[in-house]
Amino acid sequence: MSRIDLHLHSTYSDGSFSPTEVVRKAHRSQVTTLALTDHDTTDGIVEATESAREYQIEVIPGVEVSSHYKGKETHILGYFLDYRNVQFQQHLEALRNSRHERIPKIIQRLNTLGLSLSYEDVTAVAGHGSIGRPHIAQVLIDKQYVRNMNEAFSQYLAEGTAAYVARTLPDVADAIRWIQNAGGIASLAHPSWVRNTVEELRIACKELQAFGLQAIEVYYSSHSTRQTSDYLNMTRSLGLMATGGSDFHGKSKPDIEVGVGKGNLKVPKSILEELRNCAEKARKN
Ligand SMILES: [Zn+2]
Ligand SMILES: [Zn+2]
Repeated sequence: MSRIDLHLHSTYSDGSFSPTEVVRKAHRSQVTTLALTDHDTTDGIVEATESAREYQIEVIPGVEVSSHYKGKETHILGYFLDYRNVQFQQHLEALRNSRHERIPKIIQRLNTLGLSLSYEDVTAVAGHGSIGRPHIAQVLIDKQYVRNMNEAFSQYLAEGTAAYVARTLPDVADAIRWIQNAGGIASLAHPSWVRNTVEELRIACKELQAFGLQAIEVYYSSHSTRQTSDYLNMTRSLGLMATGGSDFHGKSKPDIEVGVGKGNLKVPKSILEELRNCAEKARKN
C-alpha cells in the first residue's frame, strides 16, 4: 500500500537524518510523495529531490515557518512554493538568525546555573543544520547533565524554565504572506498546539484564514481518531484544505516513523490533488 507524508525534518533543521536518508526511509515505508519541511530552511530540498529520483518518489517543495500567534509559537507549513524566490529566502535567513541569536544567551544562562558548555559544543552538534534548542539538549545529554531530551527541556529549555530565552518570531500573518508570495500553500501545522478545544481552534483558524491560511494539518502522528475526524469536519466547514504528515525528526522523536507516524498514521492521497490544483491555479493568476 503506497502512502504520502507531507511533514518531514532532516539534518538541515533539527532532524537526525540527512535528506537522502529520509528519502530512503520513505521508500521503505512505501511513500510515493513526500514533502521535506525543515524549520525555516529549504536547503535540503535539492538533495531530497535528487535522492528521490532513484525511487521514483515525488518531492513537493516544503518548509515549516516559525511564527507567533497571540504570543504562542505557531508553525506554518508551506507547500509547492518557489523556494528559490529571493524575498522568501531573505525572510528565512532573518528567521534563522533570530534562532541563532538566542543560543548564546541560553548557553550563558546554563553556565550561570553551573553547567559547563560552550557555543562551539552546540554548533558541533548542529552541523550544517539550522541551530536550535534540541542541539543544546543533545550537548546536555552528552555531558550527562540530563538523561534525555524531555529532561533537558523540562528542566532547562522549555518556556518557564531557568535557562529559557524567548525568540523574536514573525507574526503568523507575515509567515502566511511570505509563503503565499512565493506561490505556496500555507497550512497550519499540528493544530492542537494552537488551541485545546475544537471550538476555540475554529475561531483561531477563522482568523488565520482571514490572513490567507488555506489548509490545516488534519492528519498528524499524535492525533487520535477523534481529533482527526473533528479537525477534518472543522477544516471542511471552513472551506479549507487538509494536509498531513508524520513530523518525523528521527532520534529526538524515536516513536515516530516516516510515512506511518506512531504506526497508524494514514494520510489520504486524495488531499494531494486538491493541493496541487490550488497551487497551479495560484501560479496562473
Ligand atoms: Zn512544528
Ligand atoms: Zn515539524
